[in-house]
Amino acid sequence: MEILRTRIAMQQRIDALRSAGASVGCVPTMGFLHDGHASLVRRAAAEHDAVVTSIFVNPTQFGPNEDFRRYPRDFDRDCRLLAEAGCGYVFAPDVDDMYPTGFDTTVRTGAVAMPFEGTFRPGHFDGVATVVTKLLVAMRPHVAYFGAKDYQQTLVVRRLVADLGLDVDIAVLPTIREANGLAMSSRNTYLSDDERHRAAVLFRALAAGRSTAAVTTDRSVIERAMADVLATEPSASIDYAAAADADTLAQPERFDSGQAIVLLLAVRLGTTRLIDNLVTTIGA
Ligand code: AMP
Repeated sequence: MEILRTRIAMQQRIDALRSAGASVGCVPTMGFLHDGHASLVRRAAAEHDAVVTSIFVNPTQFGPNEDFRRYPRDFDRDCRLLAEAGCGYVFAPDVDDMYPTGFDTTVRTGAVAMPFEGTFRPGHFDGVATVVTKLLVAMRPHVAYFGAKDYQQTLVVRRLVADLGLDVDIAVLPTIREANGLAMSSRNTYLSDDERHRAAVLFRALAAGRSTAAVTTDRSVIERAMADVLATEPSASIDYAAAADADTLAQPERFDSGQAIVLLLAVRLGTTRLIDNLVTTIGA
């Protein structure tokens, strides 16, 4: 596996691969990898001649009081996991290479980035859209792979690619979960054993939302079903527990029968903030 530390080196490597006719899949990550990331790499490896995984903890998508400094990092372990999953190239630039002195242009996201994470993490999606644009320019993949775990992010990225006319296909793969339903996340490392056990309440809440959405079109009833389950875990504090249109994130009082919706959760357990989601169909 080859490690590339600068955007220039990355671009030169990809140019050579593409000139030789290779198809390229890429997986943008912030490192501290787990089986969720590995599932994206394995799929990319199955579908392409070359796979590039980026590892970059992007400072511009963290708020001033968020966990940028303490975000977990373990480059050597990440490389072992990536090699095993079939990754050929690791793009691991430092902050100065991505944002050299004088850097002054950002991508401004629109409506789909406003609610939910956009409300609780102001500026987050502008940071994501900017870094994803820069990573795609550096890695120049045919297909970029993202996880449904970060549902709103997938909508923001699809919008970004369409609006800026970026020459890449976006693939979104299912969320990989622990046996108790907890969505795998690098941030799960912040959880104590006890909290990890309690965190299963998120998936139970999503499951309750899904069975309620099968029998009602009333958004508040679906949201209450999720909130009621979360309330059984007193140490969980809710940022949001919402149902929204799966494509637009609109929140009408009533959905249509057959409408695809997404159930979205952001919950704090102690000092750890967890997000999760489930896509389902009203009446199904
Ligand atoms: P991150 O390193 O958290 O920025 O995540 C990098 C990519 O992996 C994003 O597209 C995430 O949505 C995806 N990802 C993170 N956790 C999971 C998971 N449990 N299952 C599937 N994909 C995931």
